Amino acid sequence: MSEPVPELRPAKLDFIREIIAGDLASGKHATTITRFPPEPNGYLHIGHAKAICLNFGIAQENAASGACCHLRFDDTNPEKEELEYVESIKTDVKWLGFDWGDHLYFASDYFGFYHDCAVHLITQGKAYVEQQSAGEMRANRGNLTQAGTHSPYRDRPLQENLELFARMRAGEFKEGDCVLRAKIDMASPNLNLRDPVIYRILHTGHHNTGHAWCIYPMYDFAHPLEDALEHITHSLCTLEFENHRPLYDWVIDNCPVPSKPRQIEFARLNLSYTIMSKRKLLQLVQDGHVDGWDDPRLPTISGIRRRGYPAAAVRHFCKRIGITKFNGTTDVALLEFDVRDLLNTSAPRRMAVLDPLKVVLENWPAATVEQVDIPNHPQDPAAGVRQVALSNEIWIERDDFMEDPPKKFHRLGPGRHVRLRGAHIIRCTGYEKDASGNLTLIRAEVLPGTLGASTPEGVECRAAIHWVDATHDADAEIRIYDRLFSVEDPDGADGGFLAVINPASLTTIVAKIEPALAGAAPGFACQFERIGYFVADSVDHQPGIRPVFNRTVALRDSWAKRTGG
Ligand code: ATP
Ligand code: MG
Repeated sequence: MSEPVPELRPAKLDFIREIIAGDLASGKHATTITRFPPEPNGYLHIGHAKAICLNFGIAQENAASGACCHLRFDDTNPEKEELEYVESIKTDVKWLGFDWGDHLYFASDYFGFYHDCAVHLITQGKAYVEQQSAGEMRANRGNLTQAGTHSPYRDRPLQENLELFARMRAGEFKEGDCVLRAKIDMASPNLNLRDPVIYRILHTGHHNTGHAWCIYPMYDFAHPLEDALEHITHSLCTLEFENHRPLYDWVIDNCPVPSKPRQIEFARLNLSYTIMSKRKLLQLVQDGHVDGWDDPRLPTISGIRRRGYPAAAVRHFCKRIGITKFNGTTDVALLEFDVRDLLNTSAPRRMAVLDPLKVVLENWPAATVEQVDIPNHPQDPAAGVRQVALSNEIWIERDDFMEDPPKKFHRLGPGRHVRLRGAHIIRCTGYEKDASGNLTLIRAEVLPGTLGASTPEGVECRAAIHWVDATHDADAEIRIYDRLFSVEDPDGADGGFLAVINPASLTTIVAKIEPALAGAAPGFACQFERIGYFVADSVDHQPGIRPVFNRTVALRDSWAKRTGG
């Protein structure tokens, strides 16, 4: 059995929860409204799960004061978004156990408002239409040690700005001909404040607004406006936005917004042996390195769901890693530990033989079939028992037998005893090999009176092995998944992440399983005794017709053993 998960310390709040508790206590806010704002340009991954657990978790914890968390699709960029992603994101958030209630929003519904705010900035002399090229703008921006230089268009008359912006909107310009810039400070030490672009021309249709717009707001302009419009109190984002915060605040302070949200940054989740950039995940999918967004080797939420990770284990993991301001990499073994730990308690036990070797029980009458009661969970009597047939031929794992076993090998060998899990003790009486020296058959005898009884006096039997009856079995396709990458930091690998794909990340074998397992419903999770946790595949498993099981996680961390880690 694995060691227990260390107790979480519920009393200690992370720095974000502390700020929120402070704001509620001081009366600054009567409640808290958070949001999770995915861009629908890919499937969610385990990093998003951290942000989801944080934002929805805070809303849940403060539900008594009316807190809620908005699910907002950040779909202001017309070029990349797809409806398939919107649906997958909703499914994933629900699967993680969260509910946005009535608070489902699309940032593209606010295009009119962003536009009004842009016009407002122009009329306040705080935005201007830029007609320098992108290259010129870059060259004039300066750098960390040098101030930028003012654009020749910076001091255009207000009326001219309004007219040009209206013409941008009316589609009179080509993409790149002009942009709208906020007029802030070309000498600011924060480059984000050096007259950032806030609107650009894109002659691209949008999935929500069609061709109503050909100018689109930049993320740094739209995001604070979305938050303010929705009365978000605490806008939680990852650390790379820290030096965008002054711009976030500038937009809030200078636009006619109905509320004043506060941006707070936290460290993103990075996992060893894992990549999380949506662009790179898309590449793995599109180039066929994996079998779709829900491939069980991917860190996507749909992938880990199909892999058999319980949502509760993912939530537990997110809680345990906590919220800090320090970027680091979390060992993926910690996530696997939580999955194993949860399944250890919740998953019923079944038997499957992955590398079958036949054993003939020679003193067992050929026609006799016994129904043996086997407990479904060793620590949980409430899980009940199931009946498993036992005849005179069974399958055991090839590596549970050794021709010439050392003293410490407690399983089967010539003349040795072993208990069949939940059933009798058997003694090996011989074995057969084929012409090339491969074992083909084991001969054994059943020790009478050992079913459900302790080991008889004088018999040495120190192990129980799993088995499947050879006349009452089913064949199942078993997919043994391993880490997708063979190095800890695939992003930093020479030759890039594609060069370090683990060639053995998927091994498919045919195993012998208890016949009833073949009829399991898709998504049924269990432990194959002594092997690992498995789940009936949600896509390819057809009950009773084509059993397909995915290995969720091995019983022990076999990877650490292999690499000496
Ligand atoms: P990309 O992979 O293109 O950089 P993204 O992962 O940032 O995109 P978004 O859709 O913008 O995708 O993310 C939605 C939210 O999830 C954001 O608030 C973002 O801060 C958060 N988020 C994304 N990745 C992580 C991560 N690894 N850890 C924690 N939060 C994350
Ligand atoms: Mg992003």
